[in-house]
Amino acid sequence: MKAKAAVFMGANNPFEIREYELIPPKPGYAKMSLIASGVCGTDIHIHSGRLGGAPNTMIGHEFVGRIEEISEEDSKKYGLKVGDAVISDIAVPCCKCLLCETGDDANCVNMAVTSAGSVDDAPHFHGGYGEYSYAPAGNLIKIPEGVDPKMTAIFACPAPTAIHGFSLAEKAGVDIKTIKTAVVQGLGPVGCFAIAYLASAGVENVIAVSGGVDAQKEALAKDLGATKVYSLKNDGEEKIAGEIKDMTNGLGADLVYEASGNPKAIPFGMDILRNRGVYVVPGQYSDSGAVEIRPQIITFKALHIIGSSQYSFCDVEGYVDFLAKNPALHEKIAALATCYKVEDVNKAFEDAKARKNIKTLLVK
Ligand SMILES: [Zn+2]
Ligand SMILES: [Zn+2]
Repeated sequence: MKAKAAVFMGANNPFEIREYELIPPKPGYAKMSLIASGVCGTDIHIHSGRLGGAPNTMIGHEFVGRIEEISEEDSKKYGLKVGDAVISDIAVPCCKCLLCETGDDANCVNMAVTSAGSVDDAPHFHGGYGEYSYAPAGNLIKIPEGVDPKMTAIFACPAPTAIHGFSLAEKAGVDIKTIKTAVVQGLGPVGCFAIAYLASAGVENVIAVSGGVDAQKEALAKDLGATKVYSLKNDGEEKIAGEIKDMTNGLGADLVYEASGNPKAIPFGMDILRNRGVYVVPGQYSDSGAVEIRPQIITFKALHIIGSSQYSFCDVEGYVDFLAKNPALHEKIAALATCYKVEDVNKAFEDAKARKNIKTLLVK
């Protein structure tokens, strides 16, 4: 039996649809059929040439699938079985470097990925953009009953990204549950999930700030738990900063979460924080240029500025757990997907690049 793969052919080239024979997984691996695979901002950056990516590979790192084959030994070892729906985490930290040894494997300096192999080499389906994928069984996170796997694919990477940022804030001594006012900059998938996370943690004021004007995104942010949504284009920085000050007795926000990717968000984020405020910055994923800041603010406000890029296996578990505990969000999240067949990957990318969809998924 053969299945389709969307093969990355280098920056700005169309993907090629190829068919490869399905083979049994090697020991330690599972073979999974596609349920849904997300198109991430990272993939858009790779396809646009802003981030590196080798041609003749399958990119895509947000694969949610159903296990079709796994050895009895691996099944026992990892608590997985045929028929289980899983998220496949592509990260392979070295477990030896200083970062890994001190519990920071998300920032491993020798990080490898499961999706790196050439499509010419069996089992061909190394990455996420295909009707099948093969991955180490130890990289699979089981999706529990009662949580729709396709819906889970929508935030399969944005949610762990957001959760890891929050976990680094917690590590720095910030207790999210004690925060009264948080601002999320940017209404992409990471920003949207950060809103849902803060709202479910009981944060009183969850303020979303988007760049443009988009009634659909504004409604979505509110639906996910934002108490107030601003548009920089309509409202302007001065008005937003003033209202946040009024809301916080002149102090400023306790926490700002940068998920816009726009460098200009940084000086504004620093401005609206209170003294000892926390700035979590997972959003600046590609080099979008430089911006002027006044470093004095960091000193005088004694800010925490916390960068966060990759996530760990446990953050994916945290996401699945979050979904299991928040069933009221499932329908709202499920509505965010626009689905394309694997063979329509080029159309999916065109629409994702044009920001037509909130979340683009490839399905079988
Ligand atoms: Zn991603
Ligand atoms: Zn390491």
